[in-house]
Amino acid sequence: MWGYRVAHFWESPIEYAKIRDQIMAHTSVGNISVITRFPPSPTGKLHIGNARTALFNYLFTKHHGGKIILRFEDTDRARSKKEYEENILDALAWLGIKFAETYRQSERNDIYRKYLERLITENTAYVSNETDEAGKQSSVVRFRNPNKKITFTDIVRGDITFDTEELKDFVIARSIDDPIYHFAVVVDDFEMGLTHIIRGEDHISNTPRQILIQEAIGAPRPVYAHLPLILSKDRSKLSKRSNAVATTEYRDLGYLPEGIVNYLALLGWNPGTEQEIFTLSELIEQFDIEKIQKGGAVFDIEKLNWVNKEHIRRIPQDTFETMIQTYIPKEIMNESDSKKRLHRLIPLIQEKAEILCDVKNQFEQGEYAYIFEAPREYDISKLMWKDEKDPKIASEKLSQILKILSEIPSNDFSEISLKEKIWDFATNAGRGTILWPMRYALSGRERSPDPFSLGAILGKEETLARIEKAISALKNREGSIS
Ligand code: GLU
Repeated sequence: MWGYRVAHFWESPIEYAKIRDQIMAHTSVGNISVITRFPPSPTGKLHIGNARTALFNYLFTKHHGGKIILRFEDTDRARSKKEYEENILDALAWLGIKFAETYRQSERNDIYRKYLERLITENTAYVSNETDEAGKQSSVVRFRNPNKKITFTDIVRGDITFDTEELKDFVIARSIDDPIYHFAVVVDDFEMGLTHIIRGEDHISNTPRQILIQEAIGAPRPVYAHLPLILSKDRSKLSKRSNAVATTEYRDLGYLPEGIVNYLALLGWNPGTEQEIFTLSELIEQFDIEKIQKGGAVFDIEKLNWVNKEHIRRIPQDTFETMIQTYIPKEIMNESDSKKRLHRLIPLIQEKAEILCDVKNQFEQGEYAYIFEAPREYDISKLMWKDEKDPKIASEKLSQILKILSEIPSNDFSEISLKEKIWDFATNAGRGTILWPMRYALSGRERSPDPFSLGAILGKEETLARIEKAISALKNREGSIS
């Protein structure tokens, strides 16, 4: 494959320049399709910042109908681990980022060796016998640096110029069978036909070295886009201390992949409109690489939570109910009436949750306990509206509520019909004097949803029982307060 490419690009500079121009004008790439890559080193779990790099490559590629390649850069044998490779694959699959091809650098040594041998033959690289500080001898391969100025155009940062002189004759392989990262990357990017390299800003300083190698092997220069760094809220580098950094940690905390994808897309990019909530396909459609910003992107967990919440709200109710099953205490799931109440409580739970684990915490902290257990006792003063002093008046009002509610058929005991039946009565009597005691009688709490939702969630039988209980509590006190 490279035989053809090298002949093509070295022998026909005009043709090469033409193709380069087309690649540069990447929005009208014509018949040259976009080919990108995501090349993680499997030396740790997929960092959330790297997930953003993968996503930007994916969005750009899909926007142009191109091909994206996954390449494990596992040449550091000591630090590369199978479990990290698995974690990276899991995380990418969870996010919905799919690749056309997957490679491992550790399986490509023959290819790198061919290129090294060629450069040595052509005298653009040479073997240097060296002794390191520990006295160990080795035959490293050094690149014969042409010592020149390199200017490359970065989509995000514009023209960047480096003087390569200070790189000296840098090492490209520790031995003929052990290429270093820069060399393997350039060979792979060439062999895999990459047109665009979208990666973190921390790789800018690697680019001149890589361009020198590209030129030596006769590879066309891809288009570069270096993404802004992701910063913690205090603008320091995103680190474990301030946030979870592994993508799978977010999964395990109960973030939705849709929420993470949406939030990551906004880290350094926005479409220039008011829209903030996107599905993956909307992102693909709207992604415009020219709109990537230069400045560091602050990772704001509150914003992430908000974005995630918006995606939770968009899940169909029955799907959401299935998703949270594992977070619901067994006692509730095992009892048929509780299960029915839970089912009716779902919209409220869904409205409140930022991440799925919130549901677990809310149940553990007893946030919804009053739905499943009637109040053990009532604070009499709270069954009365504001300055009301007479329990008799309060119990009469609750008795009227009881009467109205008992006339609603159980199969129509919905929020809407409750409201319809109570509203006029409450408006005539003074809304607070009716709705407050009704709500407190049902929940036994100062803060809870409105009495109509509550009644509908509890069901007719339980609603009537709780109101009766509140009435008798008031009756027991009648006459004792004057
Ligand atoms: N393997 C490198 C990393 O994980 C990426 C190299 C590149 O994008 O050129 O940082």
